[in-house]
Formats: sequence, C-alpha cells, structure tokens
Amino acid sequence: MTDVAAPPTTYQLYIAGRWVDAVDGRTFDSVNPADTRDVVGRFQAGGPADVAMATRAADTASAAWRATPAPKRGELLYRFGALLADNKERVARAMTREMGKVLAEARGDVQEGIDIAFLMAGEGRRMFGDTVPSELPDKWAMSIRQPIGVAGIVTPWNFPVAIPCWKLMPALVAGNTVVFKPASDAPLCATLVVELLEQAGFPPGVVNLVTGTGADVGDAIVDSPDIPVISFTGSSATGKAIAERAGRRLKRLSLELGGKNAVVVLRDADLDLAVDGILWSAFGTTGQRCTACSRVVADRAIAEELVARLETRASRLRLGSGLDETVEVGPLVNAAAVEKVERYVEIGRGEGELVTGGATVRDGDLAHGHFFAPTIFTGVEPMRRIAQEEIFGPVLSVIPVDGYDEAISAANGVRYGLSASIFSRDVNTAFRAMRDLDAGIVYVNAGTTGAETHLPFGGWKETGNGHREAGHAALDTFTEWKSIYVDYSGKLQRAQIDNQ
Ligand code: NAD
Repeated sequence: MTDVAAPPTTYQLYIAGRWVDAVDGRTFDSVNPADTRDVVGRFQAGGPADVAMATRAADTASAAWRATPAPKRGELLYRFGALLADNKERVARAMTREMGKVLAEARGDVQEGIDIAFLMAGEGRRMFGDTVPSELPDKWAMSIRQPIGVAGIVTPWNFPVAIPCWKLMPALVAGNTVVFKPASDAPLCATLVVELLEQAGFPPGVVNLVTGTGADVGDAIVDSPDIPVISFTGSSATGKAIAERAGRRLKRLSLELGGKNAVVVLRDADLDLAVDGILWSAFGTTGQRCTACSRVVADRAIAEELVARLETRASRLRLGSGLDETVEVGPLVNAAAVEKVERYVEIGRGEGELVTGGATVRDGDLAHGHFFAPTIFTGVEPMRRIAQEEIFGPVLSVIPVDGYDEAISAANGVRYGLSASIFSRDVNTAFRAMRDLDAGIVYVNAGTTGAETHLPFGGWKETGNGHREAGHAALDTFTEWKSIYVDYSGKLQRAQIDNQ
C-alpha cells in the first residue's frame, strides 16, 4: 500500500529534452481519489510562457524529425512500446493510485498504449498513399502523406496512458513534433509516459510536456499560431469552446467528446450475458469511460427480469481502492465528480424509480475517498435528463420499450453517438441493428466498451467532429495529403483538355 506520510515527489515539465520547473514556479498536487490524504505527486502549474518555450522547442526540432525516415521514426515507437511493456505493472499501479480505476483495468489501459505504439511503429514502414494510373500517357500520378508540423495534444484523465498514446504515436510516426498537455487529475501517468519516450531515444524537442490547467496551458496551445493541429479528447463543452477558437485560425482539429451510450436488450436476448455486459460497461471505471453504458433500452417483455438481475449483481459489487485486487469498483475521480453524480441522482429521483445505490459511500476504509454506490434507475422515459445528459459516473437508466423499432429510436435519440450495443439471438435482427444504430462503434452481444487499437475509434454527432483515433484513420489527423504528378512525356500535356 502507499506510504501516506512520505512527502510528495515534485515532477517537472519536459521541454527541449530537459526537465524544468514552470516559469512562474507554481505547483499543484495530484491526489489519490481513493484516499485523498495520499498525495501522489507535486506538479508544475505551467502557463503561456511554458507553452511558448515548448512550442519553440517543438518547432526547432521539427525539420530534423520530419527528415528522419519514417521507418527510423517507427523504430523509436517500437522501443517505446517495449519499454512500456517492461514497465506495465509500475505504470498501472501509478495509474490506479492517481485516478482510481481498478488495477486490472489500469493494466488494460497501459496495454492499449503498448498496442497503439506497435501498430503505429509499423506505420513507419507503410503510411500508404496511392499510386494510380494517369489519364495522360507518359505521366506518373501518386499521393503521399506529409507531417503537418507541431501538434498540440490535450487529453482527459480517464484513460491517462491509452489516450495520450493514441495521439502521440500517430503524430510522431507521421513526423510531427508535439506539445502535450495532460489532465490535471492524471499528470503522473503523463510524466511516466514522457519519461519512457525520453528513454526510447526521441530527440530533444520532439516531445514536450507541459502540465497545468486547461485555462493556463490548454488555451495557450489552442491559441498558438505555431501549433497548426490540435488533437483533443474531453467533454463536449470544452471541445466546443476549443473548436470556436481553433476555427478562427483554421486549425486542423480532432475532437473526441462525450457519450451517452446505450445497450439494447431485446426479448430474445441471453439475459445472463446481457447482465454481464451491462455491469461491466456501466460500472467499470466507475462509469467514467467515454464508452460507458449509461442507458439500457430493454424490451418491456424482459425489462422487469433484467432489472431484478442487475439490481442483485450491482448491489453486491465491491467498492474500494483499486490497488486491492478484490475490489470491483474504484472511486470517482474527484469531489466535483461526486457532486455532479449527486446532482443527477437527485434529478433521477423525479424521473424514474431508484432501484439500487443512489448515495455516496463513506464507511470504514472508504471515508477518505470519492466513492459512490453503483446506481440504477428504472422506468425512465427516453427524453428525461438522466437518459439524455452525460453523467460520467456509476448511474444507469433503464428505459422500457416495445419492440425493435422503438428500441433503436430510443438508442439513437440522444445528441451523442460514440458506442452502442445490442443483445439478441436473432442474426437478422443483429444485422439490422449493425446498420441502424447511429454510433461510431457498435457491439453485438457485448457491452458498449472494449475498443481494439487497429480499428478506427470515435463517435458520431456531438461526440466528435468526424475525425477518428486509432487504426489507419488516426494518420488522417496528423498528416497533409500531397498529390504528385510527374510528366515524362517531354511535352506540355493538359489534363481534361488534351485527352478528350
Ligand atoms: P475536460 O473537457 O474537462 O478536460 C479534458 C482536457 O482538456 C484536460 O486536459 C483539461 O485540462 C483540458 N481543458 C479544459 N479546458 C480547456 C480549454 N479551455 N482549452 C484547452 N484545454 C482545456 O474532460 P475530462 O473531465 O478530463 O474528461 C471527461 C470527458 O472526456 C467526458 O466527457 C468523456 O466522455 C470524454 N472522453 C471522451 C472520449 C472519446 O474518445 N470520445 C474518451 C475519453 C473521455
């Protein structure tokens, strides 16, 4: 267990290959949400001057990095992936202590970082463009990807290794340099990632880390004229504010935002399987995954039975510090998250029937943490607030419906579109749902979570702005296309004119 009495270690910014204090000397603490007496570390509260230095360092490093052959850049990604694998347990434990998710999930989070590092390392030897026939004789036509320049990377705390890696790896292999601002609830995880990038041998200035608030550091990144591409994951409210400002400079902007993900359970579903999938999706990471299930759309024929089974299982989930391997549900990330969940539970009492949970938990060992009981409401109408707004906590609404069409309409009837799932034993129904669900990620006979890094990840509607992370699609955020024509005919040939 952690030594609560030890003084916190102070960590620094990483700029131009050196670990340095913030210009104005301010710091902030990162605390363990399972026991707020445990200070995980002290971090630099960076500001615009630090961002300016980091941007200058990234800009200076850019020419040599983009001139480094992509397969060589990829080799550094391989080295980083291997280092992250060697340090998996250490990083996972730091993650659990810093942001609360249980150890098994923290290991999965680190594994996603390893997976994307290896996937993108391979892109160093692929990064395909097209070579196509020209419409004119003796003419060559092809397209290639080129780096954009300095990438601003702004990340949330809920996947504090995976999400930074999803962004850093494609940005770097494509030849961009980076200014990286992590969430203030997970600066240690970000620091560990950057330490391993340094060990892997990325040249000074290629990766720069500036910790600090969204207002001080995030704004400066978004407003910098020298950062032409921003990749942001976080809430829709912050994403919209960033989009407005980045739009003024016509920046490339990738947004991955909120969700209100539904599991549809039809009358022919395997209910045991559905219960397993729903519990894992709704209460894993304490409901704080972007792909968390916060709505169950259940056919009225099985809704009562389903709710009874969910109640039995949810009320038995073991809460506590995620460092204890027997714990199933960790804390919420901070006091503000607890207040938000409490507010929504109050709203929920007027919108549905509370089945289980509904309160903070402060017994015994949990007295100093941000714990909230897994909570289920049933009988919720699809347009109610708890069925429409992202709560980002362990609160599940069950929405009874009649049949497939009503189920799909309820599942799609929100302004988000990240992930959705359907439980049915009928293959025809499953294929219809694969077509009909409005979401970037669809699961059949599984919950709403569990993305694999070689497929595109991202959402429809207000979950994003059309970009995707992971898979080959991730390169689109961080590269410009260049179409190249080589005319070896030795004469002027005019496309669309000389070949009619
Ligand atoms: P948040 O929007 O509060 O913060 C995200 C990041 O943005 C942090 O680093 C924060 O410091 C920074 N930030 C805040 N204000 C800023 C500003 N004005 N300019 C620039 N940066 C600013 O989100 P959060 O609470 O850290 O994360 C939870 C949210 O993230 C949820 O809504 C969740 O759904 C979403 N999320 C989405 C995905 C996805 O892939 N769609 C994945 C994970 C989390």
